[in-house]
Amino acid sequence: IFKDYISRFPEESDMIITCNENVKLKVEAGSKDIVVKNLYLSCDPYMRLLMSNQRSEIFAPYTPGTVITGFGVAKVVESGHPEFEQGDLVWGMVGWEEYSVLKSTDGLFKIHHTDVPLSYYTGILGMPGLTAYAGFYEVCKPKKGEYVFVSAASGAVGQLVGQFAKLMGCYVVGSAGTQDKVELLKTKFGFDDAFNYKEEPDLNATLKRYFPEGIDIYFENVGGKMLDAVLLNMRVHGRIAVCGMISQYNRPQPEGIHNLMTIVYKRVRIEGLAVFDYYPQYSKFLDFILPYIREGKVKYVEDIAEGLENAPAALIGLFSGRNVGKQVVVV
Ligand code: NDP
Repeated sequence: IFKDYISRFPEESDMIITCNENVKLKVEAGSKDIVVKNLYLSCDPYMRLLMSNQRSEIFAPYTPGTVITGFGVAKVVESGHPEFEQGDLVWGMVGWEEYSVLKSTDGLFKIHHTDVPLSYYTGILGMPGLTAYAGFYEVCKPKKGEYVFVSAASGAVGQLVGQFAKLMGCYVVGSAGTQDKVELLKTKFGFDDAFNYKEEPDLNATLKRYFPEGIDIYFENVGGKMLDAVLLNMRVHGRIAVCGMISQYNRPQPEGIHNLMTIVYKRVRIEGLAVFDYYPQYSKFLDFILPYIREGKVKYVEDIAEGLENAPAALIGLFSGRNVGKQVVVV
């Protein structure tokens, strides 16, 4: 499978993906290990950085030849840990394999609410959901009536940021890479407007059209040319939450940004975010989001690939926008 992808996407040829299938693992006697059966795996853009020369400074890079790790939803099948027992459902870091031995329970959350789809714990109820929540409310510090722009707006994080902005009473526009995604933003997620950035040759002019009075908040998911154009359209005291820059993850060198002086002219605050800083707020976030999901007031779209054999394709698809919504793999 992977050789086929390398031939079609040669720029991704430095990715190394290994999956273990049909391997039943055991708890080491006397250890606090947990053996889990993996149910859903999450495809996340940061995983690309762990496979390339552009190292993430947050996560250790993957070791070629070993199973890659990522967020997932799993069921405990054997436990040496006093706080976890057989049958518990959990989300956190697992391997891309049918069963994983977890040596550490750091960042492993027990799942208590099962009246919602379990796969949601890879997305809206897991890492991307907390990212959208913390990034929008804590980093952007939105106020009612402000003008909000979200890039990669139909994705796992973006679709939530747009809906949170509407709940706050903001005016929100999203960008996405196909006309279908643009429609989804406007009809399903309630964005005030949306555009296909691939059909806009002059992003500065496009943003001026959608935000004649400028942008108060930019939720940054893509970087590159979009960021440069946004900088020219920020309002005085605007805020940019830098969540990620997916357009840069496949590049050997990051693209240059030209309009940085706007930060001075418009007194813009730019702040990066790392979701795990907000893990202590996870239960507060659940209390916030669960009622919205149950009442249908926040919508969530997932793109589910079936089987480990389709996991590499699903992951690589993030980088050309083949996913519509949160990309999940059901094991
Ligand atoms: P998505 O579900 O949004 O999937 C990625 C999407 O990015 C694709 O569907 C595609 O949509 C878009 N995309 C891909 N390549 C490009 C490109 N070259 N230019 C513009 N858009 C592109 O992913 P997530 O919601 O999981 O992640 C969104 C961002 O948030 C990423 O940058 C990620 O790294 C970041 N992130 C950061 C976290 C943190 O703690 N800081 C935590 C979680 C995510 P389209 O069709 O619209 O092009």
